[in-house]
Amino acid sequence: MMDVERQTPGAAPWHALTAEAVVAQWGSHPERGLTGEEVARRRSRDGFNELPEAAAASWLGLLLSQFTNIVIWVLIGAAVVSGLLKDWLDAAAILAIVLLNGLLGFVQEYRAERSLAALRKLSVAMARVFRDGALQSVPARELVPGDVIALEAGDRVPADARLIYAANFQTQEASLTGESTPVRKRPERLAADVPLADRSNMMFMGTVAVSGKARALVVATGSGTELGRIAAMIQKAAEAERAETPLQRRLEQFGYQLLWLALGVVSVVFALGYLRGEPLVEMFLTSVSLAVAAVPEGLPAVVTITLALGVTRMVKRHALIRKLPAVETLGSATVICTDKTGTLTKNEMTVTRLFVDGRVFEVTGEGYEPAGEIRASSPALPLEGGGEGGGEDDRGDDGGGAGLRELLTAAVLCNGATLRQEHGVWQVIGDPTEGALLVAAAKAGLAKDELERRAPLEREIPFDAERKMMTIIRRTAEGGTAYSKGAPDVLLRRCTSRMTLDGRTEPLDDAHRRRIAEANASLAQQSLRVLAVAHRPLRHRRADSDDDIERELVFLGLFAMKDPLRPEAAEAVRLCRQAGIRTAMITGDHKDTAVAIARELGLHRDGETALSGSELDNLTDEQLAQRVERVGVYARVSAEHKLRIVRAWKRRGAVVAMTGDGVNDAPAIKAADIGVAMGIAGTDVTKEASDMVVTDDNFASIAAAVEEGRGIFDNIQKTVHFLLSCNVSEVLVMLFAALLGLPLPLLPIQILWMNLVTDGIPALALAVDPKAPDLMQRPPRRPGDRLLDRARLLSIGGEGLMLALIALAAFGASLFLWHQTVEQARTVAFTVMVVAQLVHAFNSRSERLSLFQLGIATNRSLVWAFLLSLGVQLAVITIPAAGPIFKVAPLPLEDWELMAAMGLLPLFIMEAAKAVRRSRSAPA
Ligand code: ATP
Repeated sequence: MMDVERQTPGAAPWHALTAEAVVAQWGSHPERGLTGEEVARRRSRDGFNELPEAAAASWLGLLLSQFTNIVIWVLIGAAVVSGLLKDWLDAAAILAIVLLNGLLGFVQEYRAERSLAALRKLSVAMARVFRDGALQSVPARELVPGDVIALEAGDRVPADARLIYAANFQTQEASLTGESTPVRKRPERLAADVPLADRSNMMFMGTVAVSGKARALVVATGSGTELGRIAAMIQKAAEAERAETPLQRRLEQFGYQLLWLALGVVSVVFALGYLRGEPLVEMFLTSVSLAVAAVPEGLPAVVTITLALGVTRMVKRHALIRKLPAVETLGSATVICTDKTGTLTKNEMTVTRLFVDGRVFEVTGEGYEPAGEIRASSPALPLEGGGEGGGEDDRGDDGGGAGLRELLTAAVLCNGATLRQEHGVWQVIGDPTEGALLVAAAKAGLAKDELERRAPLEREIPFDAERKMMTIIRRTAEGGTAYSKGAPDVLLRRCTSRMTLDGRTEPLDDAHRRRIAEANASLAQQSLRVLAVAHRPLRHRRADSDDDIERELVFLGLFAMKDPLRPEAAEAVRLCRQAGIRTAMITGDHKDTAVAIARELGLHRDGETALSGSELDNLTDEQLAQRVERVGVYARVSAEHKLRIVRAWKRRGAVVAMTGDGVNDAPAIKAADIGVAMGIAGTDVTKEASDMVVTDDNFASIAAAVEEGRGIFDNIQKTVHFLLSCNVSEVLVMLFAALLGLPLPLLPIQILWMNLVTDGIPALALAVDPKAPDLMQRPPRRPGDRLLDRARLLSIGGEGLMLALIALAAFGASLFLWHQTVEQARTVAFTVMVVAQLVHAFNSRSERLSLFQLGIATNRSLVWAFLLSLGVQLAVITIPAAGPIFKVAPLPLEDWELMAAMGLLPLFIMEAAKAVRRSRSAPA
């Protein structure tokens, strides 16, 4: 194989050569592309098509960052003071705990970071490329120079490339040139000295296709591209994406508030101790450990890991979170605005009816297999009039005349899809709507290959969701023909004549227009998607403008196709409704079709209205906001309407999730609280604008993501609640003892130990608590609601008080009832506190539901965390060597009974409290 050389200095630049010359120079082929072998060879020579990445945060940096926390410095200070006082054991123990804490934080964050990085990899950019003669979808990084790529509106240009073919193709090059108006691209060669911004036959990596279609030859990849030259700037933008979620930020602030509060309490304890003449050094260490006790330093890490684990779990349910804050917002979503085709329905189209010249034909057969027949429908659909001949003639399988044949032919010739059989299964490559037309035509014996050979492509005006129609111009014996298809209402406006069943062209009068409109409505009301097809003979090949061509068309007929509902969609809609979430369908389809499908889904109820795009245009933003809550279906809308709908809902204070797939959907997706892009049908541009990508395009996955979002928030709330109540209890027990003039019930090392072991381990298990059974029966959390509202802060305080009193009571019992030593009493208080906190972790699983309703073993991790923590605590108080480190003393048997009983108390108290809560909130 000829070795392709890069452009030699002095040679003409790519834009100054013809497309053919460029293709030849790169040893490629405009339709077949490169061979697999050649691709492999070039890749080993030129490397992957990627820009050098910014260095990932190193693990060392992450480890060191664990020790930048102010609390850690306070602790290190305490260790130093202990060391200066030659209290080596204490100093070493504190340092060990600091290290352990740092290590634990590091492991958590490292894991979280890794799973988030893995998620980022899941959303790799893809490119469509011709190789070995077939169109394939490959990761964009695998492109090599010489590859022939195909692009459509919404694609991000994956490498620098020279155009070979373009139809209405425009790109937006703001990322490169700063110019935001789209640039029209054409393959014609240009002068050698035109500046970058004017190289209209080139497209550049990182820019975006905004309309039309194109095919182009890759001439530069990776850092060889124009973008590669300015890559450093791009990296900065990418780094900015690693943002914290609002929740993480709030918790950090909250941590600081707690620190100040703790300092206040510490001063009181310190002052009281000093007045009573406690040794200063001990008071200092106590104060330090108290401050540390009060600050839940594990919180941010727990939140990060809960988010990361939750996000990983969401992937299994087909929701890929692109921006972490979306997880939080998801949980409070009140409205989901969703596309219809492919999201609520399967997007597996089958033509079931044809309408030609007032007559309805039935198409039999299922799926994409071209087996079935076309026959005159009898009794006819509820259509008045019918064709001139009534319904009795033209029956049979002969296709029913020249008019029907021309309708099918036009549908095939105005079509970008292909039908093929692979391993015995018929498949559509391309748009299923178009595939369905090919299948219907094949049932009448019309094959695309053959028809195309007789009428080769000359030019096309591609489909665009805004125009809702498309045209392909073909060369024919008579000169040329334009074949158009699109939404009936749009196409009919451009028709001036019609074809009869026997193939004559007649003027299209008002009576016929009405009849076609009625047929359209009647088919749409049966949940069918209707497409009109027309043609226009062009006597001579002219270079007319697009608009000139799509005029004075000859109406040929209608295709009606069914698109089955996704089996899980109706249930998901029901689940959302039950969870207080409104679902609104937004579709480009006809209003009647949309309403019929919405009814089947239980999404459109009596008393609710449906609005069409043109009706929307007649409403002011104010009026729309007033009505938006009663509208379940929006039909024949454009992307611009989607934006207005999002804004209207937001004016009503709703939290809106909005789905989208096309380029033009990006603004609406950005404006929504949760922008959802379709993973399969979605364009690069929409995905990049989105907060979340639904990898299977399924509405049920959006509902699942909302459920997961609620679950994650719930678990963060439980964990924070638990950790704070433990911290409060430690502070209170120390404060009360100081106020009562008792000896210190807990020593610094013990408090540090509790924070690490008895709070830390169960907190991690709470963070992965299974979803509460009533999760989707509650109304959405109000967006303004805080993680910790007043009621929750009160219960945290109350539970902290409960734990503190239990530990204090145990301390008192040991000291005063059994007259044990202070060491022993501390050991008792320490252990009771540990056990009580461990038990309380189970309480924290639900505010309202009894642990026995939830099931103890439903959170296995928590059971293991409990056993593990209990085990190490028992080791601490029984292994003699641990005695001097933890300052614990051996205990007589009766203490063990006391500790077990007191440790279990929180369970009984909280169960009683929950029963009261349930009875209060139970419906009368
Ligand atoms: P959504 O996905 O938002 O539910 P949709 O996919 O039904 O909407 P579009 O794809 O924007 O909507 O299509 C809008 C209308 O354009 C359709 O109702 C149909 O009449 C027409 N249409 C769809 N696909 C084609 C096509 N390939 N060629 C011509 N017309 C089409």
